[in-house]
Amino acid sequence: MLLTITTTHQPATDLGFLLHKHPDRLQSVELAHGKAHIFYPEAGVERCTAALLLDIDPVSMVRGARNMGGDFALGHYVNDRPYVASSFMSVAITKAFSSALNGQCSKMPELAQQVLPLEAKVAVLPAPKGGEMLIRRLFEPLGYNVHLEPHVLDETVPGWGNSKYYTLTLSHTLRLQELLQHLYVLIPVLDNDKHYFVSQGEIDKLLEKGKGWLENHPEQEQIIRRYLLNLGSLARQAMERLADGQLEEEVEEDSPLEQRRQTLHQQRLEQVLEELKKSGAERVIDLGCGEGKLLRMLLKEKQFRQITGVDISIAELRKAKQRLHWDEMAPRQRERIELMQGALTYRDKRLAGYDAAAIVEVIEHLEPNRLKAFERTVFEFAKPKTVVLTTPNSEYNVKWETLEAGSMRHTDHRFEWTRQEFENWSTGVADRNGYRVRFSLVGPEEEEVGAPSQMAVFELVNHSEHVA
Ligand code: SAH
Repeated sequence: MLLTITTTHQPATDLGFLLHKHPDRLQSVELAHGKAHIFYPEAGVERCTAALLLDIDPVSMVRGARNMGGDFALGHYVNDRPYVASSFMSVAITKAFSSALNGQCSKMPELAQQVLPLEAKVAVLPAPKGGEMLIRRLFEPLGYNVHLEPHVLDETVPGWGNSKYYTLTLSHTLRLQELLQHLYVLIPVLDNDKHYFVSQGEIDKLLEKGKGWLENHPEQEQIIRRYLLNLGSLARQAMERLADGQLEEEVEEDSPLEQRRQTLHQQRLEQVLEELKKSGAERVIDLGCGEGKLLRMLLKEKQFRQITGVDISIAELRKAKQRLHWDEMAPRQRERIELMQGALTYRDKRLAGYDAAAIVEVIEHLEPNRLKAFERTVFEFAKPKTVVLTTPNSEYNVKWETLEAGSMRHTDHRFEWTRQEFENWSTGVADRNGYRVRFSLVGPEEEEVGAPSQMAVFELVNHSEHVA
């Protein structure tokens, strides 16, 4: 059972500091049923690989084991445990790399917080029922590039086909802690023969390691259920606790400021709807749809034959379902609309093939260093013919009387742009991706500072000329 982690971050040997394991030494840690060895097959400045090799004793496991090997009597002694990555791997990760798993690095604390190009390879991974698709559905939404190589059952008898085992290679640019957390949770999710008794404490471990990514994972339910070994009530508790953590503070609905915001938002959505109608689009996608206000307006217009809402937040999508009265929707209406969880910063085939996209008050929620990934996802890969995008105008902030000048309107905003900044960015995006762009303001205009919100409408150049 072998896990390797490789980085090409330079100097690559920093991996030794991050893992708290010196590249020149072979080190071992004791596990309940064997040992884990940590060593570096390569340790150069350009590329460094750490290996975690598990040496499990199947016989020791039999003592005290309740259910090894199912009905198969010899299963106690002849089983795949020593070879496949299973929950043992998670235990070994916590033992061997505990600081890294907690995001700590005494020598280079800032490096532990940095995203690095990382590749993890799991030599033998079992894929239960869903097979390859299941593995992909677990890792791809987290942004990994997934490569799977099936193992044949028997090389001498090709006719028997493939076994349920794969070699999995994951590559991504992320923090080492995140990679370890993902492996810690998802390897046991794939392991049907989870060997230890699942206790309440397991929920805590799962939620701790899942923090920051499991809340928004599209396979959240399946991950939790499998991780907790299909123990219905424990899994339900875990899901409830995850959902609780997401409850947002309720806003004071009827304060004058809030009313003004709502009116502005309605105005903004109407303006977006007008542009979408004018574009002639039939298939539209609302990227970062939130609780689905625009989706509801789109549904009322017959012109839009297919409407898709995408958001990264499951909680928002749940609200959208409620707002749309999803469960009571007539079948013909429901056929027109689809909701899906997804990120706008990762290439995603499901986002392609639309006539128009709306992206309303979303970009300011992205980290500035993810804007390039967003641009590529939307304008290079999804490439709708029309993109209607809005964002706040920071110049107007002085006019929101209860806000101090210079502060942002929303705590979750990562940035807010002046009209010039928005124009510069949008013009660059249009030029780089073959669109033309025009701008308009949203909301009451004031001298000097403009209006509270701003809108850009991008049109794919080839398309409009083709049609003209
Ligand atoms: N468009 C909606 C919601 C705007 S709030 C409206 O105008 O009412 C911003 C929304 O973007 C939130 O629902 C948030 O969950 C979503 N979001 C933020 N970052 C995202 C990302 N990287 N991918 C997809 N959605 C994202």
